Amino acid sequence: MTRLDHHSLRPSATSAPLRFIWSHAAVGTFLALLLSRIVHLAIAILRPPNSRPGSGCDDHADRPGGCRSVYVISGFTNGNIVALVGSKGVLLVDGQSGRRVGLADSALRTVTKLPVQLVVNTHYHADHIEGNPHWRAQGARIFAQRLLVGEAKKDTVITEWEEWHREAADPAALPDSVFDDSLALPFEGHVTALHADSAHTSGDAVIWFRDANVIHTGDIVELGAPPFLDWWGGGTLDGMIRGVDLVLAHADDKTRIVPGHGWVTNRGEVATYRKMLVTMRERTLAAIGAGQSVEQYLATQPTREFDQAFGGSRYGERFARLLYVGLSRRSP
Ligand SMILES: [Zn+2]
Ligand SMILES: [Zn+2]
Repeated sequence: MTRLDHHSLRPSATSAPLRFIWSHAAVGTFLALLLSRIVHLAIAILRPPNSRPGSGCDDHADRPGGCRSVYVISGFTNGNIVALVGSKGVLLVDGQSGRRVGLADSALRTVTKLPVQLVVNTHYHADHIEGNPHWRAQGARIFAQRLLVGEAKKDTVITEWEEWHREAADPAALPDSVFDDSLALPFEGHVTALHADSAHTSGDAVIWFRDANVIHTGDIVELGAPPFLDWWGGGTLDGMIRGVDLVLAHADDKTRIVPGHGWVTNRGEVATYRKMLVTMRERTLAAIGAGQSVEQYLATQPTREFDQAFGGSRYGERFARLLYVGLSRRSP
């Protein structure tokens, strides 16, 4: 078992849909070719906020003088990266896995040659921080919430959850700077990292691009598969719901919301996702309170109406089991 194993909650790559928003046909064609070469990574333009028809900004995002653009680099099972291209450099949300970071870099280089100056991590899981040394070697400074450091250093085997081995992170993957409640990142424009306490993990960060009206949620929101709750890394279901509320509080109807995994979405879909979390909390606590065993609970098909969105009933069942395990631990 490896630190990446929680993504075995996700359906196979072929069944997890991704939606890409192309800025124009030529870019779409080129990136479709790129996709076929780099398998599960793609880069899509989220929003070029300063572009106007004829301005050339969306063709030359890295030209001197600056035309800031926001991109998402997506894979089916790897964490989504958001890239903000400024006038002199790039800010990234999340560093990608060690295995995929080179592909992410290749995808980024199709839109800018500017150096990555800043990486902010959303949480400690390997597919979000393993790539940090790659970016630091290019001159990037790594930021994260303070609690990420403690979680990333742990080397434990979770007997309660399939002997999941949480290996300690490479010390080179740890951040250079940490923050507590929130941090205005030292980059162009208003980009703020907000601590979502005890959500997917203890040290989650939601990244809010105020100017671009884009939010990266980290793994507080996952689409196309059930989310993972890392009870052993300080995560809680109540905290995850509060984390979703934090996202919703910073979003309007036009906000582009990038989940930790899955497709770019909007406020409405995230509100629906919140309802799912609340429903599952009620059902699981009711089953525990009634003295049902986990097998009795699963026999009630508690995720029935969500299974399609999760990619199938076996993923729903695994999610329900995860909630039962975690909520049982915390119930008297
Ligand atoms: Zn993840
Ligand atoms: Zn995660």
